[in-house]
Amino acid sequence: MNNPHTNAIKQLEKVAKVLRPEYEDKRLFDKAINKLKKPDKIIEGTVRIKMDNGSTKIFKAFRSQHNNSVGPYKGGIRFHKNVSKEEVMALSTWMTWKCSVTGIPYGGAKGGVIVDPKKLSKTELERLSRAYARLIAPHIGPWVDVPAPDVNTTGEIMAWMVDEYEKTAKKRYKTLLENPVATFTGKPLLLGGSKGRTEATGLGGFYILEQLVKKLKLSPGETRIAIQGFGNVGYWFSHYAHAAGYKIVALSDSRGGVYNEKGLNPDKVLVCKQKGGTIGDCNCTDKSCSNKGTRITNVKLLELDVDILAPAALENVINIKNAKNVKAKVVLELANGPTTPEADEVLSKNRIIVIPDVLANAGGVTVSYFEWTQNLQGYYWEKELVLKRLKNLMDEAFLRMWDLKTKAKVTARVATYMSAVKKVVDTMILRGSI
Ligand code: GLU
Repeated sequence: MNNPHTNAIKQLEKVAKVLRPEYEDKRLFDKAINKLKKPDKIIEGTVRIKMDNGSTKIFKAFRSQHNNSVGPYKGGIRFHKNVSKEEVMALSTWMTWKCSVTGIPYGGAKGGVIVDPKKLSKTELERLSRAYARLIAPHIGPWVDVPAPDVNTTGEIMAWMVDEYEKTAKKRYKTLLENPVATFTGKPLLLGGSKGRTEATGLGGFYILEQLVKKLKLSPGETRIAIQGFGNVGYWFSHYAHAAGYKIVALSDSRGGVYNEKGLNPDKVLVCKQKGGTIGDCNCTDKSCSNKGTRITNVKLLELDVDILAPAALENVINIKNAKNVKAKVVLELANGPTTPEADEVLSKNRIIVIPDVLANAGGVTVSYFEWTQNLQGYYWEKELVLKRLKNLMDEAFLRMWDLKTKAKVTARVATYMSAVKKVVDTMILRGSI
């Protein structure tokens, strides 16, 4: 099994080799890199909840705070049966680079609970969310660590967590010294959420796609896209890409997918799926929806001969076993950590461009930043403004990466990491904190 934190360290070591010659004080640089190989702090504990049938269940939970040189720790909370300490450590490291890539003033963090939330009732899910918020409450705050949704967590879950956090903060400080609403992002609009946050990650990925397609001199109509994963990110990305005229030839969720070379309409696929079907039964084009004969497995989807392959689900799906079979021209990493370092080498040898996760999916945390600033100001923006500012930051980050990639003749991942890691290391040096 691939250890995601080992992968995160390998990626860092690779870019450290490229950056090292730039630094006069090698000892200081090495010290900074070594510090970045481990999170600053890991909160590890258990959450105990009452189940609806009166029994008690205990779940293992984590929050990894990787680095806060640039600003407060920032990152989502994941509810999944495969969550592990190593996974949240890796994901928190990637958050540090992700925030650095678009230039937002945060460090990196990530939390998680080992649980299959689909097996919980809504009341159990609420109790779990509140118990988790109590566990991390002493370690978070608007200027300390700002959690958000991630895999299987939603705005509603953030609302429960804000409420619980507020109670514990009142107890601790007797009075409220801070705005508890600014401690979480990805909240529902009624509770201080930002317009545009729901679609932000997928839309940010779409903005990157548009820039990339310009550079590659492709046109939307002739660009075929396969997307693995039809959660929040996969759906919104496919929605915007389809609306702009790209051809979505394959979509899938954890149970498998659907393929149609003429192009699918993701909004119709969503409606079909919500009616209780599996995606494989939702062969929906613009004109019609049928359930005949175009199922595709997740394995086959990754190996389709398409222009853009967008893994938008979980880690390590492109690994040493299947990397040689990937035929896409570009891999646009909408999930966190979908490609292992070994697979990355294979893709690079095969001249496949990989737009890394920390750039391609940075849209979510970027609008989280806008949400946080709106909460701190108590002044809320129009959706147009949110989306315009998101587009600006995504476009700039992409163009910075592309420029460096061309000048330094490195892969898109190395170029992205070069500026992201350099900024964090330079901030650490500037502070004199190493
Ligand atoms: N979970 C999202 C990510 O991995 C968003 C994090 C955030 O908004 O803080 O980027």
